[in-house]
Amino acid sequence: MSNFNWCHSPKCHTHKTQDRVRGSKGSKVLRTRKVAQNQWNENSFFKYFCSNSCYNDFANTYIERIIAIAPRHTPLETPIDDPKKVKHTSNYTFSDGSQHTWTSTEIKERGVDTTE
Ligand SMILES: [Zn+2]
Repeated sequence: MSNFNWCHSPKCHTHKTQDRVRGSKGSKVLRTRKVAQNQWNENSFFKYFCSNSCYNDFANTYIERIIAIAPRHTPLETPIDDPKKVKHTSNYTFSDGSQHTWTSTEIKERGVDTTE
């Protein structure tokens, strides 16, 4: 098993960086980068791409084929309880004795108990 992948971007070898320069004097090339396989990238697309820019190049080039893997013609839905407005008060008290307050909307998935 090899411990690297070649970057899968169709444009990796066109980016003009010093680390991509390979070959002997008089016949230099810009070469696709190797992507080391490690714990950091083992569960992400970064195991196939050397940078976000290269990932974007791949996705923009092949987006129609990527979408064809799992096309969506209807929306997905997550059942939720009726949203509740919740008022919060900061622990910090201003010099005039007031406290900062704000409200947020609490959204819970239906049937999922988050109180423990
Ligand atoms: Zn790359």
